[in-house]
Amino acid sequence: MTEHTSTDADAAPQNSDTSDWSDWTAHALRLDARGELGRGPKGLLIDLPALSQPWMCASGLCTPGRRDPKARSCCADLDVVLDDDEIQRIEAAMPTLAPRLAAADSRWAAGALVWRDGDTLTRPGRRCAFSRIAPEGLRCVLHEIEAQDGLTPGALKPAPCRMFPLIWVDADDGRALLSAVHPRTARLVGTRPAAAFPCIGEGTLSLAESMKGALVELLGARGAAAVVKQVREFRR
Ligand code: SF4
Repeated sequence: MTEHTSTDADAAPQNSDTSDWSDWTAHALRLDARGELGRGPKGLLIDLPALSQPWMCASGLCTPGRRDPKARSCCADLDVVLDDDEIQRIEAAMPTLAPRLAAADSRWAAGALVWRDGDTLTRPGRRCAFSRIAPEGLRCVLHEIEAQDGLTPGALKPAPCRMFPLIWVDADDGRALLSAVHPRTARLVGTRPAAAFPCIGEGTLSLAESMKGALVELLGARGAAAVVKQVREFRR
């Protein structure tokens, strides 16, 4: 199996095989034995406890300087690795992005930032080059510009950011497991414990419901609806 997720900056690189496929298979078998493995379109396996956990972006609780010492943030602490298309889209947009970034963030106002190191986003000042500090916590300027300009989600914001904390694991037999950063999977992805991310366990909506847009991107509207339906039934 091959797993795809954002990973901890001081752990394994993103979108890599950080654990033996047999670990994920054993995880899926344990879920199945407990009646906690859902089935989605095209043989998709669903980690129902991970997709059912409450989740809500809580950047006020994870922003450096404001957070509990053990708290970590996807925008300040995780390596984000971009593919070639994502790098090209951001580079092509940079002439119009740069002034808007300068208006939003003091680091850009002081001069254009080196925003990538190879294929990985940089974190000057210990936070992503494309983040800004707002009263409510860290915000993604790429996300905000997409929304302001009516762009398709993902036109600028990289996939690992749109998917966190979901984990997609490709099986050798063509099937896949949809999971997430969760107390039972942290060892498998080599990331910080789920408890380090204040967003995990926050709010009342399940991760599947909160991240329906990402699920539509992965599975299409019907596939996403099927996952959300199973998660709702599992939570009852
Ligand atoms: S690109 Fe946006 S969402 Fe991704 S790490 Fe940077 S600020 Fe966060």
